[in-house]
Amino acid sequence: MHNTDICIVGAGPAGATAALHLANKGIPSLLIDKASFPRDKVCGDALSGKVVNELRRISPDLPAQLGELQEAMPSWGIHFISPGGHKLSVPFKYNYQPDQDTPAGYISKRIHFDNFLVQQVRQRPEVKFLEQVDVVKYKPAAEGGYVLSDKQGQPLVQTKLLLMANGAQSGFTRHVAGLDQEPEHYCAGLRTYYKGVSDMDADGFIELHFFKDFLPGYFWVFPLPGGYANVGVGMLSSAVSRKKVNLKKEMLCMIETHPELQRRFAKAELVDEIRGFGLPLGSKKRTISGDNYMLLGDAGALIDPFTGEGISNAMISGRWAAEQAAKCLEQQDFSAAFMHGYDKAVYNRLWKELKLSRQMQKLLNYPWLFDKVASKASKNQALAETISCMFNDLDLRERLKQPSFYAKLLFD
Ligand SMILES: Cc1cc2nc3c(=O)[nH]c(=O)nc-3n(C[C@H](O)[C@H](O)[C@H](O)COP(=O)(O)OP(=O)(O)OC[C@H]3O[C@@H](n4cnc5c(N)ncnc54)[C@H](O)[C@@H]3O)c2cc1C
Repeated sequence: MHNTDICIVGAGPAGATAALHLANKGIPSLLIDKASFPRDKVCGDALSGKVVNELRRISPDLPAQLGELQEAMPSWGIHFISPGGHKLSVPFKYNYQPDQDTPAGYISKRIHFDNFLVQQVRQRPEVKFLEQVDVVKYKPAAEGGYVLSDKQGQPLVQTKLLLMANGAQSGFTRHVAGLDQEPEHYCAGLRTYYKGVSDMDADGFIELHFFKDFLPGYFWVFPLPGGYANVGVGMLSSAVSRKKVNLKKEMLCMIETHPELQRRFAKAELVDEIRGFGLPLGSKKRTISGDNYMLLGDAGALIDPFTGEGISNAMISGRWAAEQAAKCLEQQDFSAAFMHGYDKAVYNRLWKELKLSRQMQKLLNYPWLFDKVASKASKNQALAETISCMFNDLDLRERLKQPSFYAKLLFD
């Protein structure tokens, strides 16, 4: 049995980031994952500018190293296609120069991106990394902390502090931390890969389509290197059950019958299974720590409810968990009261953004308004520019919440 001060369960973006920040502080940790890397993860594979920033915080040269990966494609923006078919293009940076500027974001299959992070971990002597270790049981230890065991009840690890970064299906989150999966704050997603979808954006813009008959769900096509595309759908779980939607059937039906998609997918080949996974949304504040533990990334439900982006928030939580863990060790205080500093730090950074995205998610209940904004912006350069800035500037984005913004738009 391993005896350690800090055990991190899950080596996805949240857990790997926490381990790397701890290593940067010279603090040893035990990192375990049930998989063996490289491993796949069902995802849209879009890495935002926030991911690039978090990489820089781990080490200033990491963004450039990611840029050198052949498997990572630069991405310069998002095309939103409104229910009425209007295309609203939002570059991540206005007047960007693909041949001169550093890319604002990337798209990279998770099998490659997560392995990129794990490769950094493997280089750090401070991190003991164990793969193919499936932790199933968590028992409080007599002297404080937890004893972790496998399915058969065989004890594997005893730790003072537990960083739970084991993703959306974390049993610890549900059974020990007591956080339920709430359909109003949970999204169901499907993903597959195609080769040969036509008319993909040359600058790697990702596409989010909001079809009238599929609202409040969305359909995406994200370009990947080598002529591949990540294709998927997402819909709030409450809407999936209310409308009795079969996501797989709907996704294939949209590809086969929507005139524009039909044309673009005519010669495309499905090259993977269609696989599903959940997205625990951060549209509600929760208690994400307790005596001797913190919940990171999807285990702490931190995904953006409008964009479905969770990798950057997972990395941000990993960084703050490492900060808190260092304080715990210094003070030898692992109590829930002290650990709450982690919740404060994470929500201080993310809550404003998550709350705003919740409001924008609600905009999908008004497809006509969405259409109006997209239609006007597609004809009006200044408005398109304002919206583009709004996506990158949180204070400007606040304006999307104000009725006056829409009133001006409708009657101007
Ligand atoms: C369909 C879909 C599309 C998405 N699209 C995007 C997107 O385009 N961009 C974006 O930013 N986000 C996207 N997300 C969200 C993103 O995938 C997650 O937010 C992100 O993976 C969270 O990282 P994590 O480290 O918390 O968890 P994960 O990446 O899930 O990593 C958890 C790790 O824990 C390990 N583990 C699990 N259980 C155990 C156990 N019992 N014992 C040991 N190890 C265990 C797993 O093997 C895994 O390696 C999408 C999600 C879905 C489902």
